[in-house]
Amino acid sequence: MDFADFLHTHPIFDVIARQAAARSVRAYVIGGFVRDLMLKRPSKDIDIVCLGSGIELAEAVGRELKVPVTVFKNFGTAMLRTDWEPDSTAIDANRAPGWEVEFVGARKESYRAESRKPIVEDGTLEDDQNRRDFTINAMGISLNAEDFGQLIDPFDGQNDLRRKTIRTPLSPVLTFSDDPLRMMRAIRFAAQLGFDIEPDTFEAIAAMKDRLQIVSRERITDELNKIILSRQPSYGFKLLYHAGLLDFIFPELLALKGVETIEGKGHKDNFYHTLQVLDNVAERSDDLWLRWAALLHDIAKPATKRFDPKVGWTFHGHEDLGSRQVPGIFRQMKLPLNEKMRFVRKLVRLHLRPIALVKEQITDSALRRLLIEAGDDLEALMTLCRADITSKNYDRVKKHLANFDKVERKLKELDERDKLRNFQPVITGELIMETFGLKPSKEVGHIKTAVREAILEGTVANSFEAAIPYMIEEGRKLGLVPVKDPALALESLSQRGQDTSDSNL
Ligand code: ATP
Ligand code: MG
Repeated sequence: MDFADFLHTHPIFDVIARQAAARSVRAYVIGGFVRDLMLKRPSKDIDIVCLGSGIELAEAVGRELKVPVTVFKNFGTAMLRTDWEPDSTAIDANRAPGWEVEFVGARKESYRAESRKPIVEDGTLEDDQNRRDFTINAMGISLNAEDFGQLIDPFDGQNDLRRKTIRTPLSPVLTFSDDPLRMMRAIRFAAQLGFDIEPDTFEAIAAMKDRLQIVSRERITDELNKIILSRQPSYGFKLLYHAGLLDFIFPELLALKGVETIEGKGHKDNFYHTLQVLDNVAERSDDLWLRWAALLHDIAKPATKRFDPKVGWTFHGHEDLGSRQVPGIFRQMKLPLNEKMRFVRKLVRLHLRPIALVKEQITDSALRRLLIEAGDDLEALMTLCRADITSKNYDRVKKHLANFDKVERKLKELDERDKLRNFQPVITGELIMETFGLKPSKEVGHIKTAVREAILEGTVANSFEAAIPYMIEEGRKLGLVPVKDPALALESLSQRGQDTSDSNL
């Protein structure tokens, strides 16, 4: 196969070829970029391997292009960015313009049984291809004058692309012992590309699964997130399950598996249900965290499972317990413990609420509470809830979804009418204290809650005009008398630069 024409469409390749020739080092495009080029798949970065110093070649290319070069001395690699907007089909329209180009000298890695750290030395192109993870990731394209554009494919990765197969270049046992993360990568690439894993390769994963324990959690989670972000994530999870990796990397998910039957009554298999919900969400959203919410929405079902002879299986409170388990799972997985985690925790906690609204006679107050609790995440929550309808009965699914539309319409109407979406009660603790001359106390909390409840019930509007008289009335009930005109209290609060809104709902 000849890629010379393609290489000439991007100035970067000519510059690298010229600089490599000037220094008499041989250079190749290698790895994921070549694979994605052949698959006509968007590719975000280019890897260049050269027989010599990758850092020196990168610096020469950087000088010619007048762009800065970042050197990673410890790894013997260097990176630069080009700001060309390439015109190939292999471009992801959503990413920043330009390529990230990484340079590395060809290397040979020898692993010894007693140490995880390989001995790294300069090597030939063949050595470098031998240490790569899969045949489809080991192909190179020459940037050298005598065979410019030629594909160098020692393991017939081309054929594996055609057959849609993930296979290691050397024996899978060797490849996986050198770096056990490659077992996760095999499943990740299978999931991203919709490929099969070649049987010997798969068997080796199943046999060597325990080796994954020496790999850092961050690297494992990186691969797991890429599986979650694939088009049909259930496929990757089923591979993880069948290879026996799930037990170690995500035991809580595995615990959802299985059906128990008592007195002829069974419940659904929550593992497969969860995967179905994840796929459903994936069809509607690319958001990693919404997908995580799908994975975790029923995570506490095993812990809350009970059998009641009258009603059958119940999972009471699994949404609350599940949401409380989210931080621990995120910590274990080395996922961020910031607003992403809080988003997932919130969606798990609220995931039954819209469904409950479908069943009940919907009251404005119930809708209003959901609106306020979900806030800006309402759309995401509704996406999760729709995805959660996994009945095999088509009519049933249709009926549920129609009910959902109704709930959503009502929520929208109410939202527009009440403007409650990012509800901040106008009556704050400070205002109550200032008006009644109180110190922080039970009374302050009592009045605040009473006002908030009235607003939620819709008996009082969320405005000063409506809420201040209500506040005073609630104070009176407690035997309190205003010591200050509330309007003046408001003014002195704002003069003091106090934030008069607080969100302690
Ligand atoms: P993507 O960038 O979409 O994740 P990629 O194939 O480019 O896919 P990278 O992690 O960027 O993956 O790695 C680039 C190349 O480096 C791979 O194609 C592969 O040849 C090699 N490689 C990366 N990680 C490993 C590894 N753990 N073991 C062996 N080779 C690897
Ligand atoms: Mg890459």
